[in-house]
Amino acid sequence: MGKRIPTYEVITFGCQMNDHDSEVMAGMLEAMGYEPAASTDEADVIMINTCCVRETAENKIYGLLGRLASLKNKKRHLIIGIAGCMTQQPEVARKIKNRFPHVDLILGTHNLHRLPDLLSRVRENRERLVEVWEQAGQVMENLPIRRASNVKAWVNITYGCNNFCTYCIVPYVRGRERSRKPEDILNEIRQLAQEGYREVTLLGQNVNSYGKDLPGKYNFANLLREVDQIPGLWRIRFTTSHPRDFTQELIDTIARCTHVCEHIHLPVQAGSNRILKMMNRGYNRDYYFDLVERIRQAIPGVAITTDIMVGFPGETEEDFAHTMELVERVRFDSAFMFVYNPRPGTPAARFPEQVPDEVKSKRIQELIARQNEITLEYNRSFIGRVEQVLVEGESKTNPEMISGRTRTNRLVIFPGSGDLAGQLVNVTITGARLTHLEGNLEATVGANFSDGR
Ligand code: SAM
Ligand code: SF4
Repeated sequence: MGKRIPTYEVITFGCQMNDHDSEVMAGMLEAMGYEPAASTDEADVIMINTCCVRETAENKIYGLLGRLASLKNKKRHLIIGIAGCMTQQPEVARKIKNRFPHVDLILGTHNLHRLPDLLSRVRENRERLVEVWEQAGQVMENLPIRRASNVKAWVNITYGCNNFCTYCIVPYVRGRERSRKPEDILNEIRQLAQEGYREVTLLGQNVNSYGKDLPGKYNFANLLREVDQIPGLWRIRFTTSHPRDFTQELIDTIARCTHVCEHIHLPVQAGSNRILKMMNRGYNRDYYFDLVERIRQAIPGVAITTDIMVGFPGETEEDFAHTMELVERVRFDSAFMFVYNPRPGTPAARFPEQVPDEVKSKRIQELIARQNEITLEYNRSFIGRVEQVLVEGESKTNPEMISGRTRTNRLVIFPGSGDLAGQLVNVTITGARLTHLEGNLEATVGANFSDGR
């Protein structure tokens, strides 16, 4: 009998940036000879990629670490590693090391590329290792990668963040903003298009400030124009856009680029000028209203989505009313809505007048209820329309259904064969839920179709 191939599992918490880092971790593990495990219980290596933006994610991760202790007791050769934003905080890395002796490897966000080296040492010497770099080194290129989809791909354009919103831990765990060189990004996307990928999402904490740290005047609009010219690519998305850095040049560029999709994720965070100022967001509500107006004028049919927080320190009933009023006036296509959660080490965690939990809870319920009505109204307005959908594959919940997205990033689920993955199809929308649209397949738009508007 041949030697059994060792297997791995990567468990991811958090944002798209983490999803993408996990693809790199999986790529490095496969380059070392590991294969994906059929289940967590069967894996020889389990890597956990963590998030610390809110305490709820951290608590889930501690719970998971606790549960993995019994697996490790049954399987002594199992290696458990933990990486990502949570371990980048020295006190958290220390706590994990002390409280969870079954964790073999702890690494941070800046030294992910060191995984193969460190894992080999853990495996060969049976030693526990903690390696967390305080500072980010140079941007690492050409790391192996195992992408989750073969239709759409994440592509990092910047790492880190310089904005220091007062509630946010990201700049402390991801470091200062670093832009990848345009040629590295363009080469990666050209290669993806040649391999048959149809959609890319350009990733950064604030994509609109891309290039500010590079020599010359090359900016995000320049990059979008060049990506738009890459043959074989049908759809270009990007996230996240900080309202402050959204220039008119960028709006006009998005409007003109054939393949750039009509969806902008534009986190507003709050509707009160006082709170926006305390958050250090760098804009006020009038600026935001004007920006939304200019985007909607230039890009017909654009979907605007957002992130909003309630219960920031000092938020009064009047401040919250301003948020509700902003939601009413802008009418976001959808929103991620959060309760403010103090993050140790951030300025807002030390602000006086923290809002009591029961007030936060009442406000978030009110906000979610209203925004959900608006989202559903939007989704219902699609019933009877024919939408162009890029098929991603079988639906996760029902193998007889397939799913894909409209250019405005709405999920559409409809009966069809998984063979259509990677194809553009026309779907008549017949139903609308909060999270997705339902429909019937009309026609395949064709492999040579360039997804022009
Ligand atoms: N860079 C992006 C931006 O500025 O919009 C978002 C990054 S953050 C990972 C995603 C969202 O988490 C933020 O937009 C914010 O709404 C939310 N968030 C960040 N810190 C938070 C905190 N301390 N409590 C609650 N929500 C938070
Ligand atoms: Fe956090 Fe603000 Fe940077 Fe977004 S822009 S990652 S919210 S500091």
